[in-house]
Amino acid sequence: MLGKIAIEAIEKEREALDKIRLDMWHNPEVAFLEKNAAEWVAEYMEKQGFKVERNVSGMPTAVKATWGHGKPVIGLLGELDALPGMSQKVATHREAVVEGGAGQGCGHNLLCVAHMGAAIGLKAELEASGKEGTIVYYGCPAEEVLTGKGFMARGGAFDELDMSIAFHSGTTNEVDLKGGLALNSAEFKFKGITAHAGGDPYNGRSALDAVELMNVGANYLREHVKSDVRIHYIITNGDMAPNIVPDKASVWYYVRAPKREDVVQVYDRLVKVAKGAAMMTETEVEIDFKGGCYESTMNHVFADELQKVMAKCPRDPWTEEEKAWAKEINKTTGAIYENYVASQGGEDKAEQLHDHVYELTSVGHFGSTDVGDVQHICPGISLTTACYPICAPGHSWQITASTGSSIGEKGSTFAARVMALFGLEVIERPEILEKAKVEFDQMMGGKKYECPIPADLPVPHADEF
Ligand SMILES: [Zn+2]
Repeated sequence: MLGKIAIEAIEKEREALDKIRLDMWHNPEVAFLEKNAAEWVAEYMEKQGFKVERNVSGMPTAVKATWGHGKPVIGLLGELDALPGMSQKVATHREAVVEGGAGQGCGHNLLCVAHMGAAIGLKAELEASGKEGTIVYYGCPAEEVLTGKGFMARGGAFDELDMSIAFHSGTTNEVDLKGGLALNSAEFKFKGITAHAGGDPYNGRSALDAVELMNVGANYLREHVKSDVRIHYIITNGDMAPNIVPDKASVWYYVRAPKREDVVQVYDRLVKVAKGAAMMTETEVEIDFKGGCYESTMNHVFADELQKVMAKCPRDPWTEEEKAWAKEINKTTGAIYENYVASQGGEDKAEQLHDHVYELTSVGHFGSTDVGDVQHICPGISLTTACYPICAPGHSWQITASTGSSIGEKGSTFAARVMALFGLEVIERPEILEKAKVEFDQMMGGKKYECPIPADLPVPHADEF
């Protein structure tokens, strides 16, 4: 069987990879602060004979590990960051390890090790066959704030790639054709003049008024944008007390759309709304642009091949114990579970853990990921494997619980195998990459990737290292 060596190599490293998975689970680190995770990855990949670069593109927690020579150059996109507030024990009820602490509520500990496993499997195959090929593993910071890879790309971290593969943990086994939205993220900080709100309000100029008026303007703007544009915000500062005219207030916006061009246009209009609000209230606005990302664009040539690989790749069976545990988790999701059970024709027929591989489907997806940036630099593909119970909602305590359990481990090991086998397929049959590149060029339509991160935007938290 093609890929036997890769699968054996991954199995041999399974325990070592699992240690890193659990270390990251026990020490979750949020965006741009993935100090330990980055070091564990760097040390491990060095031991595996990869040439390791730390501080990639001036990012203290970005790691790049390269092995091999010649073409194709295959990039594997591992992630390092956890989510704030997602601390949770491996339990079927809500119970934090650290109240309010961070947790692996998006499973990036699984992503981190699965891509390393794939890199090791591919390396073993290339060593055995003596074939040409270069494997580049990336330990990427800050996917959760959607700009980590943008910052890496700004420094040229992905320039040498012929293709990228990105796995994300999920509730199902499938090749990802859903894509994701492009995005811009910016905080609008208004500055006014303080005054006694009862005594002399006429001397005050309220920054909070400006925030509110900006939000009113943005909500009117909604009517005049394409129907698949998403605009959302939170008020990050409304100042201190109602009896003081607020001289500082701010609001943080995301603008999303299926195409980056639309994000850029709507964002420009949102900036006008902010300036209008400042003018009306005689306040000043400072725009803290935090970055953006491209939409994900899955390569269909890769998708067809990856689908075949995934369907025949060996998967470890779920134990009865794991299924029972998953059922308890699923039941905590209330209506999600009830609807799911109804759609499956009853509880007896409903899988608690996804136990097959879906056919290729492309349904719209309205999240975003900075993997989209890499997919505008070279052709790329993503996949999902079942690492959580079937009803686990995105970014949830149920996911943190699962990514610390054997279910998450099995799902990530399956992903490692699939990615190694797929990489091998591309190396064995160069026509796959040739066709994928034709599709990529058509998709780009002669345009080049333009990094959404401005050249002078500092890497967040970099000065703390
Ligand atoms: Zn994620």
